[in-house]
Amino acid sequence: MQLDLTAEQRLIQDTAREFAAAKLAPLAAKLDREGDRPAFLANLRSLAQLGFMGLNVSHSYGGAEAGVVAFSVALTEIARACAATAVTVSVTNMVCEVIQSVGSEQQKLRYIPKLCSGDLAAGSFALTEAEAGSDPSAMTAAAVPDGDGWLLNGAKLFITSAPYAGLFVVWAVTDRLAPKGKGISCFLVEAGSPGLRVGKEEHKMGQHGAATCEVLFDGCRVSKDSLLGELNDGFRIAVGELAGGRIGIGSLALGIGLAAMDYATAYAAQRVQFGQRISEFQALQWQIADAYTELEAARLLLMNAAYRKESGKSFAKEASMAKMFASEAANRACYSAVQMLGGYGYMAEFPVERYARDARVTSIYEGTNEIQRVIIAREVLRNFEFSG
Ligand SMILES: Cc1cc2nc3c(=O)[nH]c(=O)nc-3n(C[C@H](O)[C@H](O)[C@H](O)COP(=O)(O)OP(=O)(O)OC[C@H]3O[C@@H](n4cnc5c(N)ncnc54)[C@H](O)[C@@H]3O)c2cc1C
Repeated sequence: MQLDLTAEQRLIQDTAREFAAAKLAPLAAKLDREGDRPAFLANLRSLAQLGFMGLNVSHSYGGAEAGVVAFSVALTEIARACAATAVTVSVTNMVCEVIQSVGSEQQKLRYIPKLCSGDLAAGSFALTEAEAGSDPSAMTAAAVPDGDGWLLNGAKLFITSAPYAGLFVVWAVTDRLAPKGKGISCFLVEAGSPGLRVGKEEHKMGQHGAATCEVLFDGCRVSKDSLLGELNDGFRIAVGELAGGRIGIGSLALGIGLAAMDYATAYAAQRVQFGQRISEFQALQWQIADAYTELEAARLLLMNAAYRKESGKSFAKEASMAKMFASEAANRACYSAVQMLGGYGYMAEFPVERYARDARVTSIYEGTNEIQRVIIAREVLRNFEFSG
C-alpha cells in the first residue's frame, strides 16, 4: 500500500502551497472584508496558467492530467490560504471534468482548453433551484425544442462564480412526463447568451470572495449542440459529477481546518497566562491532539476516495464519507481554534474567525452531510439485502 505522494503529486502540492502563500494568503482577509474582484480574478488566471483548473483533465484538452490525488492535495493547499479561491477552483475543475466525461469531441475542444487556460475565468455548475436543493429531481427549469435548438426558462439559485463564469453547465427538465429524475438534461450555456441573466449576489456567512448568485433563464435560446451528454440523462450525469466534486469540497474543508489549527497551535505556544504558555495546559493539548488526529483521518479518507476515482474503481461512497468526515472535522477544528485563542479568536483581526465562517458551508454545499449519510447508508445496506 503506497501512502506517499509521487514526485509529481508532491511538486503540484508544493507549487500550490507556494502560490497560496505568495498570492492568496495576503489577499484573503481583504477579499473577506471588503472584496477585491480584480485581484481575485487575476489570481484565478494565474492558477489556471499553473494548470490548476484542469488537474484531472487530459493534456489533449489543455489539462494538467495530474489525477485526482493531485487535485485533492492542491485544493487543500489553496484552501489553507483562501477558501473562496479554492471553491472556485474546485467547481471549475468539476465543470471541465463533466465536459470531458460526457461531452462531444466538439464540446471538449471548444470549452475545456479555455477553462483550463483561464480564458473563460471560471465555470459554473447550475443545478440548484429554490424548491430543488437536496432533491434536484424536483427542478422546474425547463428546456423545450425550438427549431434546431432549445429554449431555456427557469431560475437557478446559489450558483458559485455566476458573475464571472464564462460557461454554465445547466440542468433543465426536457421530459415533464418522465418518472422523477428521468426527464432532465444538461446544457452548456455561454455567459452573455441572450436570455441568461445573473441575478442578485447573496450575502453569506463566509467564503465572501466567491460570488453566489441567482441565475435566470428567460427564453434563453441555445443551439442543439449545447446538449451535454444524452437527452434525459442529466440527472445521472449530475449525480456522477457531484461524487467527484465532493472530493474537492472535502479537500477544501481539510485545508481550512489545518489553517485554523496551525494558527491556534502557534498562538498557544506563545500566549502566556498564569505565568506559563497556554500550550502547557492539558486542556489545550487535548484540543490540539483531537483536531490533528481528526484532520489526519480526513486526509486519509480523501486520499482513499481520490485514489479510487483515479484508478477507475467505484468511489461514490468513499467520496461521501470523506466529504462528510472532513467537513465536520474542519468545523470542529475551527471551533477549537477559536476557543484556543479565547476572546482574540472571536475578533476579525485574527484569521480563525474567518476560518470558522468559511468552514461552515462545507457540510452544506455539494450535498448536505445528511444527504452524504443517506448515500453512505444506501451503499452499505446494499450488501445487507433481506434474503427472506
Ligand atoms: C455558498 C453556497 C454555494 C453553492 N453553490 C452551488 C452551485 O455552484 N451550484 C449549485 O447547483 N448549487 C449550489 N449550492 C446549493 C447547495 O448545493 C444546496 O444549498 C444544498 O444542496 C442544500 O439544498 P437546500 O439549500 O435547498 O437545502 P434543503 O434541501 O432544503 O435542506 C434543508 C435541510 O433538510 C435536510 N434534508 C433534506 N433532505 C433530506 C433527506 N432526504 N434526509 C435527511 N435530511 C434531509 C438537509 O440536509 C438540510 O439540513 C450552493 C450553496 C451554498 C450555500
